[in-house]
Amino acid sequence: MQTKYIFITGGVASSLGKGIISASLGKLLQARGYRITIQKFDPYINIDPGTLNPYEHGECYVTADGMETDLDLGHYERFTGIETTRDNSVTTGRIYLSVIERERRGDYLGKTIQVVPHITDEIKRRIQLNASKPSLGRDPNEQPLDFVITEIGGTIGDIESQPFLEAIRQLRWELGPTRALNIHLTYVPYLAAAGELKTKPTQTSVKQLQGLGIQPEVLVLRTEHTLSDELRAKVAHFCNVEVQAVIQSQDLPSIYEVPVNMQRQGLDAICLKKMGIEPGPVPELGPWRKFLELRKQATRIIQIGLVGKYDLQDAYKSILESLAHAGTYNGYKVKTTFVNSEQLTRENVAEQLAGMAGFVICPGFGTRGIEGKIIAAEYGRTHDIPTFGICLGMQMMVIEFARNVLGFADANSSEMERSTPHNVIDLMEEQKSITQMGGTMRLGAYECQLTKGSRTWQAYGQQSLIRERHRHRYEFNNQYLDEFEQHGMKCAGVNPAANLVEIVEIPSLHWYIGTQFHPEYSSTVLHPHPLFMDFIKACIDGAAEA
Ligand code: GLN
Repeated sequence: MQTKYIFITGGVASSLGKGIISASLGKLLQARGYRITIQKFDPYINIDPGTLNPYEHGECYVTADGMETDLDLGHYERFTGIETTRDNSVTTGRIYLSVIERERRGDYLGKTIQVVPHITDEIKRRIQLNASKPSLGRDPNEQPLDFVITEIGGTIGDIESQPFLEAIRQLRWELGPTRALNIHLTYVPYLAAAGELKTKPTQTSVKQLQGLGIQPEVLVLRTEHTLSDELRAKVAHFCNVEVQAVIQSQDLPSIYEVPVNMQRQGLDAICLKKMGIEPGPVPELGPWRKFLELRKQATRIIQIGLVGKYDLQDAYKSILESLAHAGTYNGYKVKTTFVNSEQLTRENVAEQLAGMAGFVICPGFGTRGIEGKIIAAEYGRTHDIPTFGICLGMQMMVIEFARNVLGFADANSSEMERSTPHNVIDLMEEQKSITQMGGTMRLGAYECQLTKGSRTWQAYGQQSLIRERHRHRYEFNNQYLDEFEQHGMKCAGVNPAANLVEIVEIPSLHWYIGTQFHPEYSSTVLHPHPLFMDFIKACIDGAAEA
């Protein structure tokens, strides 16, 4: 079958959950046996979100092939279990960069370079790139994908998204109704004073799309209250959409219920029918439903602290989701409490971390809040509370150990203090000549050889070689390794090619592990991450003992 393209746009407001709808549709098509990918096209000008402050755009997600991307790619992977690649996340900046580079090379043979057709052509090329690209883990001789779902970032009406909308308008026209389809996600607000749900914003948004030459075939209406058939019929009537193709997406207790809700209303079946495919039997989604069932049954609560500097849910999205997956499979609901590391002191740490069965020391950059992370690391170590340090969190565990156990009171990372005398965390050799910030860290998946007999090795089911994703410039300084090991902090995993320490642990404690990599990027609904599983288990065991 020739690749079919589904475009998902959003109207009325941002944050309606386009990413979740895209991921859910991907999941449903995958469950029908189709080979799919989901990609995100973002209208902002940064080349990638790697240089963005998490307050701007939430967490930066990292693909196995080393691209810093939008956090929606995390949803795509968690829902489908399919690894995304650098071509699944494209920004206006990247589009312009490639067009400008080509212009400088003289590839356009004297033509005037314009938004239409040059930018729109580049968008169209990139939208179609993933369909037949032999990407990660795919056989180069494989047939092209069946479906490519493209989520367009931003909201209809934004100046920035115009070229993307023009590109998908053209593609729909060129490919025809059986190979391209538009889904529009809008919002139906409830006016409490009038006691009414209002469809006017949806009508206006669809009109705006129609004005750009795009007629959505399917509408997904985000709402906090159930929409009546009458209301859906009204929307259908005003927007030139069949009533069966007006789907509602109510608030649900979990984002993981969305695929089931979408399936119940036939979102996937409608898309297939519109594209000329007889949908056939409805897939059972067995393992997915089992996960939802476990989630419902998991009523006991385990409290986990999140020691970080960003008081924003989206900043640590993948960590929160990984904790939730592991909680569910361990029969618990994870309640996370944000602990602001900037306000953490020796005096208040006991009170701030009181009641937590364990805590995660979060990743990050720069000096802000690091002393609080070091205090948390010390508290976890000296009180034997399960402590999970991720990337910067692991580095802070190392610094704390150097300061308080090895006796190097001035130990630090050279990121924080360039000329620190005890640089237990230091800039990686290959980073020393780098001057550009964007996309130049150690990024993507690297192999790691686990130390036989370590807690981590046990947690990974005694695998000797694992593969995990990285995003950092600094590393454990091997000059100090012997001293750390002699005093009880052990290296539990190294990169076999570069000999970099990727995991540290203190075996004499119940659970005290730091990873230089980010395990949170690879926990999915059907495959919770083994380290998060083991961490939550240790937290539950510890809480039971206490
Ligand atoms: N700032 C640290 C480094 O660059 C850690 C990065 C992170 O936590 N992702 O090495």
